[in-house]
Amino acid sequence: TLKGKTALVTGSTSGIGLGIAKVLAAQGANILVNGFGDHEAPRKEIEQAGSAHGIRTDYHGADLSKPAEIEDLFAHGNKVFGCIDIVVNNAGIQHTSQIESFPVDRWDAIIAINLSSVFHTSRLVLPSMRKNNWGRIINIASVHGLVGSAEKSAYVAAKHGVVGFTKVAALETATTGVTVNAICPGWVLTPLVQKQIDAIAQKEGISNEEATKNLLQAKEPSLRFTTPEELGALAAFLCSPAGDNIRGVAWNMDGGWVAQ
Ligand code: NAD
Repeated sequence: TLKGKTALVTGSTSGIGLGIAKVLAAQGANILVNGFGDHEAPRKEIEQAGSAHGIRTDYHGADLSKPAEIEDLFAHGNKVFGCIDIVVNNAGIQHTSQIESFPVDRWDAIIAINLSSVFHTSRLVLPSMRKNNWGRIINIASVHGLVGSAEKSAYVAAKHGVVGFTKVAALETATTGVTVNAICPGWVLTPLVQKQIDAIAQKEGISNEEATKNLLQAKEPSLRFTTPEELGALAAFLCSPAGDNIRGVAWNMDGGWVAQ
């Protein structure tokens, strides 16, 4: 179990991050919740998931596009929990547009939140992980860390960057009890993807159901979404002793997307 360990899951007020936080809590980990929007309801869900272990949660609303706020997040986490043993770098945003019309501020925001924040959390957590000779950094990249899709230049660049960063961090910690890996999900039905489905439905004048079917058919051979719970189970596996020597992988869970 993860009893006695503390996990920071960035962007855990919604979607994949919330799902992963619940699975880690169910294994006994305390959870430092982060993300925008309501945090009371997600915290309750996470505490409920970990109730058998009497886990604790706390919340910090750091905007991960701001390095100074990420520093505050760790200062807070270290004060409340002593140290952070597991970091799941999950917070992320999307914007779709052709390169010529891609808004410059969206490019900068995606690089800051989806890529640079992974550097900042890593540099801030590695000293205590090295000291404890145990730690897990799990970066939620994407199939878009492995292959491209049109109209996602910033996202694909950031996620490929995350996969590259993961390899370097894994090499720098290779002789320690700290492991660094990336998980690369295909489609997961979260608010981030629902927005893209809504846009397709509107653009093509089709129903939400039809747009969902088309979205899956275009990329995901399994024709179904991966769930936050399935991703949580993979994260929990990487945290288990079986994951002690898994280093620098970019593990896709994508219904066959990148096998094509
Ligand atoms: P989501 O929109 O449901 O959740 C994103 C979370 O990140 C929320 O908690 C949000 O508040 C938080 N967040 C956004 N900007 C932030 C900021 N500046 N500072 C702090 N928190 C911030 O999205 P999701 O689909 O659950 O995505 C989570 C991660 O999974 C992202 O990195 C995304 O790129 C990745 N991913 C998603 C899919 C998918 O199909 N949904 C596929 C592959 C990878």
